[in-house]
Amino acid sequence: MAPRKLAAGNWKMNGTLAALAEIDRLLADHPAPGCEVLICPPATLIHPMAARSQGRIAVGGQDCHAKTSGAHTGDIAAAQLRDAGSSHVILGHSERRTDHAETDEQVRAKAAAAHEAGLVAVICVGETEVQRDAGQTLDVISAQLAGSVPDGATAANTVIAYEPVWAIGTGRTPTSDQIAEVHALMRERLSARLGDGADFALLYGGSVKPGNAAEIFAIPHVNGALVGGASLKAEDFGPIIAAL
Ligand code: PEP
Repeated sequence: MAPRKLAAGNWKMNGTLAALAEIDRLLADHPAPGCEVLICPPATLIHPMAARSQGRIAVGGQDCHAKTSGAHTGDIAAAQLRDAGSSHVILGHSERRTDHAETDEQVRAKAAAAHEAGLVAVICVGETEVQRDAGQTLDVISAQLAGSVPDGATAANTVIAYEPVWAIGTGRTPTSDQIAEVHALMRERLSARLGDGADFALLYGGSVKPGNAAEIFAIPHVNGALVGGASLKAEDFGPIIAAL
């Protein structure tokens, strides 16, 4: 089985009901995309987006709690995401690792909870600029993969997104060789540990735009993208989907 191709959008804390018009535009312009398309809107928009897209795009959450229910004000359980219409959930995004001090251990527990609820976990890893400059990138990615990916991960229930922290929202991207090096490492580490590593969809994320998408998608072991800013407008996300 070849890895699936996935164009994933992360709307972060952007959008109200009016933003769902972008879904109509996206579906009108790309009625039969050649890849799987996923959008992870704020939690308030998951149900209406799922209803609006009627299965033509997948909808996901941006985080979930490791527990199934209980006294966790402001948090969302994986089964609740699923109930609202999600098929996926982004976990371990660098903004959560930074803003909420999430650890690999917590990301791993959340991913296991997502699997238990029947969600595909999109697990994010990535080095900071300081770590890259210090020559630590491959060690950081190896450690995050080992720590954040649960033992039950398979190519069917898990997607890995390589997102260098310094490339997110900055307009800067690694060179093709740098992306290729990390993706080859991830493929090798997943294969060594989980067996079906060759089948995992590996995404690149960090300042993907219509103008650089085709070049990024041509890099070995890149099976798609996790897109932040450029996923908010159909006129930007559409060409990225078309390039995949
Ligand atoms: C992200 O936050 O996952 C991301 C990749 O953001 P951007 O595309 O805006 O760099």
